Amino acid sequence: MVTTRLPTPGRGPLPERPRPVGAQAPHTPLRPMWCCRACGQPWPCAPARLLLRAEFDRNRTGLSIYLAGLMYEAMRDLYHLNPHDGPDPKALFARFLAWAAPRRPAADPPGSARHHPPASG
Ligand SMILES: [Zn+2]
Repeated sequence: MVTTRLPTPGRGPLPERPRPVGAQAPHTPLRPMWCCRACGQPWPCAPARLLLRAEFDRNRTGLSIYLAGLMYEAMRDLYHLNPHDGPDPKALFARFLAWAAPRRPAADPPGSARHHPPASG
């Protein structure tokens, strides 16, 4: 039998980062509200962003992939909690992903020939 329905996607990553520092509660999200379990702010709170940046310092792409998975999980939870007035996708993107965009390299990687348009005039 042919079906046009797509399978339900699996769950995203577990929100277990940033890792706890010392004995304090970790700045990880409380589901399904997605507020920080340590400070109560919307997750990722400022301390979580700092800690995540430090943890993923050499893997900013990995950080974006991790956060994209969690944004997907948060969308599912938050729309489920409040189907008629769910979060604005633009706001969720800014909250979860925009701040963590990988840095542009300071210089072109070796071997890359960057096109410079000829000066006009
Ligand atoms: Zn926090």
